[in-house]
Amino acid sequence: MSDLLSLKDRVAVVTGGSRGIGRAIALELAHRGAAVVVNFNKSPDAAEAVVNEIKAEGGKAASFQADVSNLLAAQSLIKFAVDTFGDLHILVNNAGITRDTLIMMMSEDDWDVVQNTNLKSTFNCSKVAVKHMMRKRYGRIINISSVAGQMGNPGQTNYSASKAGQIGFTKALAREVAARNITVNAVAPGFVGTEILASMAPEVLEAALKLVPLARKAKPEEIAYAVAFLASDQAAYITGQALGVDGGMAMM
Ligand code: NAP
Repeated sequence: MSDLLSLKDRVAVVTGGSRGIGRAIALELAHRGAAVVVNFNKSPDAAEAVVNEIKAEGGKAASFQADVSNLLAAQSLIKFAVDTFGDLHILVNNAGITRDTLIMMMSEDDWDVVQNTNLKSTFNCSKVAVKHMMRKRYGRIINISSVAGQMGNPGQTNYSASKAGQIGFTKALAREVAARNITVNAVAPGFVGTEILASMAPEVLEAALKLVPLARKAKPEEIAYAVAFLASDQAAYITGQALGVDGGMAMM
């Protein structure tokens, strides 16, 4: 492989790297040469399978359990990455969940758990990672937002708010840390074929897919390619952006 888009000698943490989009991101970053910490919460076997796949390709990887909605757990995760691989260059805040329902039926817990898992986790991991990256004067933070945060989806007030929150967070942090050579960007996928879609009402998904100019769901790898680009040295002059990878659904 040419050095273009190479991540050789980089160390990456991917939250929620055990399944779905996070799994594809972990594999792609490793494929480009990064050592990857595959974070998981409840799926140790799936995380270990990702690690084994990376090692089988000759790459470096390790899994680490942490509920990233908890600041102390996020601290342990980042410390594990630095202790295991000696550094931290790339943080991908990917862990996320949905608890879809109309607002009249939405419980306070439905709201809180989605904010904590999707948005507070982004704060938690970034806060800890930035401390290390500032000292090293290098960093790439990539937040996996969603087209739902840009356009809104009925039945997803909690999820859409958390995903819009990640975009605002991305812009503010990008301004804070730019002088230290740290870039912060968001990727906003459209509909991607992973387990998270299973909880979406089929009629809502069908209606939403009609809004996609490319007229299909994305493959998880198609999100991972965008993340790998933003993590590369070739993306050094891109910060504070939300890159839509959504088949043209939201043209901002
Ligand atoms: P998924 O297949 O359900 O996977 C979710 C991942 O997040 C799993 O690896 C899960 O790990 C992890 N996770 C959940 N809660 C966690 C926590 N508290 N701490 C650590 N890890 C946690 O979902 P996905 O579709 O790949 O979604 C990944 C990201 O993309 C999410 O942020 C989602 O909002 C975003 N996104 C997805 C789509 C889509 O259409 N699929 C579209 C736009 C944006 P465990 O299994 O180990 O708990």
